[in-house]
Amino acid sequence: MATHQFQTEVNQLLDLIIHSLYSHREVFLRELVSNASDAVDKLKYLNLSDERYKSLSFEPRIDISFDREAKTLTVGDNGIGMSEADLVDSLGTIARSGTKEFLSHLGDDARKNSNLIGRFGVGFYSAFMVSEKIEVITRKAGEDAAWLWKSDGKGSYEIEESARDGQGTTVLLRLNDEGLEYANRWRLEELVRKYSNHIAYPIILHFVEDEYDDKGKKKGSKAKDERINSAAALWTRPKSELTEADYVDFYKNIADTEEDPLLTIHTRAEGTIEYSTLFFVPSKAPFDIFHADYRPGVKLYVHRVFITDDEKELLPTYLRFLRGVIDSEDLPLNVSREILQQNRVMTNIRNASVKKVLSELKDLSTRDPDRYGKFADEFNRLIKEGLYSDYGNRETLLELVRFKSTAVDGWTSLADYGIRVKDGQKAIYYLTGDSEERLRKSPLLEMYRKEGIEVLLCSDEIDEIVVPSIGKFGVFELKAANRAGAEDDFGTAKDEAKEKEYKPVVDKIRKALGERVKDVRLTSRLTESPSCIVMDADDPSLQFQQLMKAMGREGMAGIKPILEVNGDHAIVKRMALSDDDRLAEDTAFVLLGQALLVEGAQLEDPADFVARLNRLLAS
Ligand code: ADP
Repeated sequence: MATHQFQTEVNQLLDLIIHSLYSHREVFLRELVSNASDAVDKLKYLNLSDERYKSLSFEPRIDISFDREAKTLTVGDNGIGMSEADLVDSLGTIARSGTKEFLSHLGDDARKNSNLIGRFGVGFYSAFMVSEKIEVITRKAGEDAAWLWKSDGKGSYEIEESARDGQGTTVLLRLNDEGLEYANRWRLEELVRKYSNHIAYPIILHFVEDEYDDKGKKKGSKAKDERINSAAALWTRPKSELTEADYVDFYKNIADTEEDPLLTIHTRAEGTIEYSTLFFVPSKAPFDIFHADYRPGVKLYVHRVFITDDEKELLPTYLRFLRGVIDSEDLPLNVSREILQQNRVMTNIRNASVKKVLSELKDLSTRDPDRYGKFADEFNRLIKEGLYSDYGNRETLLELVRFKSTAVDGWTSLADYGIRVKDGQKAIYYLTGDSEERLRKSPLLEMYRKEGIEVLLCSDEIDEIVVPSIGKFGVFELKAANRAGAEDDFGTAKDEAKEKEYKPVVDKIRKALGERVKDVRLTSRLTESPSCIVMDADDPSLQFQQLMKAMGREGMAGIKPILEVNGDHAIVKRMALSDDDRLAEDTAFVLLGQALLVEGAQLEDPADFVARLNRLLAS
């Protein structure tokens, strides 16, 4: 017998589960049954595709039994089973790095939030909520040795050699006081129907029924068993037979969530290629959606046989929020990852699925704009990824993408902006930055406000790349509001007299700032602020430079902004009147510093800025 310590994160997870899920204890059964079903899936797949397992004859099944007196509950399967090393890897550590990272981000407050934990599979360890001790007896398919894994969930576990008839795994829970209620036929039936009804294999409940004579007197009891799930592969059934509730139940089951889906898309294609797809758009983004190692949410089946739930190429990455199933009769069962990626059938299904999902989303956006707004709240960023990566569906994606804007409170589409333009307006204007709030206060908007022109506010990081790449929407060119020369669009003729009057001030500022800026100019775009920074027509914005820097691409650093100053502002006016050089220099630095600060950019030398500001205040 060998004693092992749990990986630190397992202890953390156990702790988290116990603190946040105590009111949802019952999910442990769903987790154990779905592990059992996964194990059967894996073996069934090998059985059909791998020579070494072809001779194995097995009828997949999952068995649940209990003994109220002995306070035990078992969930058994005849699936793939685990070797000794598998046990250590699977039940001593957390395999998924997403879960690990998630745990490390959780503060103490989040512990109380059971919604959070509901968003990822809690797995095997949830059984410790109802157990004093857990014993797992398992034998891997194709091996003779069986193993017993034991733990009370308090830091360590033991493994010793054991015996088991046939391959598979039996999880035996020694129930604690809270768990006792599950040693009950009706309760178990209820839970399997609730959570595991669509599991593709028979789930068989073993129980003991009392027997009575004619006079109603108990004469003994008898062991019985009964299949308690329907095992219907919902997606293969015709739409007409299914109700909204069927879909919602199924979704909750496969997506491991309590929330209803935002949209359900069920398609059956017949003809040269036959397949069914059932996709759900969740109402909340899965927690790992922006992690590089996110879990794909679409499972692949071939003729109702589970193939994989870990294939990121089934759909384009920007649709990774989708949950559901693709099932095709026209793929080989032993389809490998490499084959999948080049397979014509798969490519067809993939392309048709993308078109279908996008057109359903478009339909939702016109049919129910509020609901579509909720979609945008969660997934707009992914639509932007699509704009950048899926050129073939660009037209539709341009209709689906949403923006915040100076003209409306919620989201707007580009088409709606097009309806609101002023007579003669030829461009759609946008401003990028790192927060919507900051953008709303940017001095760069002053001119547009004065002209009554709408500006889109783009604060997603990828906007820096995506929005400029749009180029044109219909007849409108997309134009950045933070570019030098933006005033030219509004026909404000250059005021030669003013340029001349302020030339000495502008020169003074330019001289004081030297290499810190690309140029200093007088502007008519400001109404309230004394200064702002803009970028020269072809230079990348400051945010884009920061983004590149964050991605480790230093090459772009050092592209300087242009400082624009407002000749109508009191500060600049007074500068023109004064001949104190020291004062002028301090003012120049403060004009630049504040313009950078409002854009959310960092000052190179904050102490110097403060010192100059203080000198100005004192004078
Ligand atoms: P998850 O199932 O989400 O990966 P779990 O904590 O529930 O996480 O299980 C961890 C791992 O233990 C599984 O990925 C699987 O490899 C293994 N496992 C759990 N239950 C079984 C079982 N009944 N048969 C075979 N392997 C199992």
